[in-house]
Amino acid sequence: MTQLPLRALLASALGRSAATLSRMTGRGDGSVIGGRVGLMLEPDLLRQLARDRRLALVSATNGKTTTTRLITSALLELGEVATNAFGANMPAGHVSALSLHKDAPYGVLEVDEKYLPEVLDTTGAGVVCLMNLSRDQMDRAAEIWLLAQKWRRALSGKPTHVIANCDDPLVTWGASTAAKVTWVAGGQRWKEDSWCCPECGGPLDRKDADWACRECTFHRPEPQWVLDDDAVIDPRGQRWLLDIQLPGLANRSNAAMALAVGEAFGLPVERALPRLREVTSVAGRYTTVERNGRHARLLLAKNPAGWLEAFDVSDPQQPIILSVNAQGPDGRDTSWLWDVDYRILRGRPVFVTGQRRLDLALRLDVADVPFSLCATFTEALAMQPPGRVDVIANYTAFQQIRSEFGRAV
Ligand SMILES: [Zn+2]
Repeated sequence: MTQLPLRALLASALGRSAATLSRMTGRGDGSVIGGRVGLMLEPDLLRQLARDRRLALVSATNGKTTTTRLITSALLELGEVATNAFGANMPAGHVSALSLHKDAPYGVLEVDEKYLPEVLDTTGAGVVCLMNLSRDQMDRAAEIWLLAQKWRRALSGKPTHVIANCDDPLVTWGASTAAKVTWVAGGQRWKEDSWCCPECGGPLDRKDADWACRECTFHRPEPQWVLDDDAVIDPRGQRWLLDIQLPGLANRSNAAMALAVGEAFGLPVERALPRLREVTSVAGRYTTVERNGRHARLLLAKNPAGWLEAFDVSDPQQPIILSVNAQGPDGRDTSWLWDVDYRILRGRPVFVTGQRRLDLALRLDVADVPFSLCATFTEALAMQPPGRVDVIANYTAFQQIRSEFGRAV
């Protein structure tokens, strides 16, 4: 790497000290404050830190953190990788990640969907990975359409190589102005936000995995990579059994995206795949914690599409604890609960907790899903017989449970 200018070096070093101080004083992992300090001293810091590296930006509504982790794991096969592993996915978090690994030739950055255009402009990343777009809490369909339109503008006229999920029509539309796109058929569980053509507003016709607009020429592009149940078919038609440890279809889709990104970096599947299989949990997700013989597996679900993915992963033979909060990062409004179909939980012992347990209780009652109401997560866990239980929680509820168990990883 070329040497950073003096001012950027100083800003980066002071940012790292601020991050260390923040960690030492117990104010979190420090990645945001460190980056903020750095950017205050040198507004151009992100651009300078990104220069001369090969970067991948990862964005989507769901699966950003996990996919970022999988790609990072794969690229470690090629050399040192800078990454924002803890989900600090705005520019301050990117500055912090890159300045912690100053000499890493590679970087994999999780990017908030809204910040993607800005971060792409600033970093000039060579690869962008786009998985899915759906409503997050109270966002409306029109808002995610605007977001996809911003992606189109940002990608247009740049040499960026985009790896995109062509099973999501809105992602396809958002990616299709890029000079080079590798299409991955990664599947789409949540279809409620894509019944209309993003190009003309006409109805989208679907037949199996295929989709096309009835009124204009917009249609599903031919994928180069295909997720086929528990295997991936690569662009040469070779079939690879994924056999990863992260559970569920959504994670197999994330793995397929990671393999395609790996290949964009010149990393063959046979070298990338064993690295993906090493990942067992991501920032506490999918981790099992234990208390008095109760083994609770932690699943994070932040929005309607995320709940479907969590149901897919959870074991129908086991009891399940649901915890919903409504603090800042969760969104104050819990009306999204009505978008999720909870009937799949019928027949399982269901326990409801979290700040907004009454909102969730009403929703379950309307869906004819019997449940027990618990004041706290501790109480809910104590009500379980010894054995396994699944826990689905939204963002701050998840972090609370995680910190109760010593920030389980
Ligand atoms: Zn159309």
